[in-house]
Amino acid sequence: MPKLVVSGLKAYYATERGPVRAVDDVNFSLSDNESLGIVGESACGKSTLGAALMRSMQPPGKIVSGSIVLDGTDVSEMPASEFNSKIRWKKIAMVFQGAMNALDPVYTIESQLHEVLREHRFEGNMEEKIAESLRQVGLDLSVAKRYPHELSGGMKQRVVIAMALLLKPDLLIADEPTTALDVLVQAQIINLLKKLHRENGITVILITHDLALVSQIADKIGIMYAGQLVEVGSTSDIYKNPRHPYTQALIAAMPRLKSNDKKIHFVNGSPPSLLNPPHGCRFYDRCPHAMDACKKDPPEFKTDTGYVRCWLYENNKRES
Ligand code: SF4
Ligand code: MG
Repeated sequence: MPKLVVSGLKAYYATERGPVRAVDDVNFSLSDNESLGIVGESACGKSTLGAALMRSMQPPGKIVSGSIVLDGTDVSEMPASEFNSKIRWKKIAMVFQGAMNALDPVYTIESQLHEVLREHRFEGNMEEKIAESLRQVGLDLSVAKRYPHELSGGMKQRVVIAMALLLKPDLLIADEPTTALDVLVQAQIINLLKKLHRENGITVILITHDLALVSQIADKIGIMYAGQLVEVGSTSDIYKNPRHPYTQALIAAMPRLKSNDKKIHFVNGSPPSLLNPPHGCRFYDRCPHAMDACKKDPPEFKTDTGYVRCWLYENNKRES
């Protein structure tokens, strides 16, 4: 049985001008020995997707339709009280974007970890639990007595990961966990997530704008564009044989980033507004292969390891 199956997920923000369709028909599945990278530009809906999976969207945002089946149960339909007591933090946990900067400056790390355990009516030895969580993320126990300002960025990021792991979730969503960290520390955090995945069996979903980063940890990649996953596949398939023109552009932009040429070369234009996305393919305005057929929204066409949402692959066997 897959760990997680997300089908037809739509999560919108209500505005005076109509809904902002931040997540608009997203589908993917994940088995418990897999980790997934969700990659896309800023404002493509990837953070909203993470928050929707955690059912942590703030009003006016909400899940509009679709299902989130975790270990065989649709948790998107579950009453909020049940989700809060059984699922959030206990089965699915999330390190929110910028969480390390949201640590409370006036409390020690220990008291902030305590607070999380108290909130969730943890029964057991809190000191032991806190020590275990800090060890799990590679932090020395002396960190517990310190205040956030006494820690480096990398240590703070480890603390928020420890916090997310306190209640032993088996699915961890990390939203841009390495942004604002230097390259060396970035690698350490990615190694930590890798270790949690490989050694502790935690299913990891990494949300990032950085395709190169994701290759280091993800078994599977979902490329997100304008609220939709335009391509999903195994990491090696996405790298060796990117099919969607947007994925191809992302891959083509990668090696140049490593060279001395620091300018990002990319397809011209910008993504469509999620307030009024076009009825057809959302990449149409930027796509070098756009044709008349693309004025209709492409469905998901099956590929070797996933799917691609692009009319160029119309002749592939269609996903039922
Ligand atoms: Fe380009 Fe058409 Fe494919 Fe969209 S459907 S990405 S416009 S070729
Ligand atoms: Mg984001």
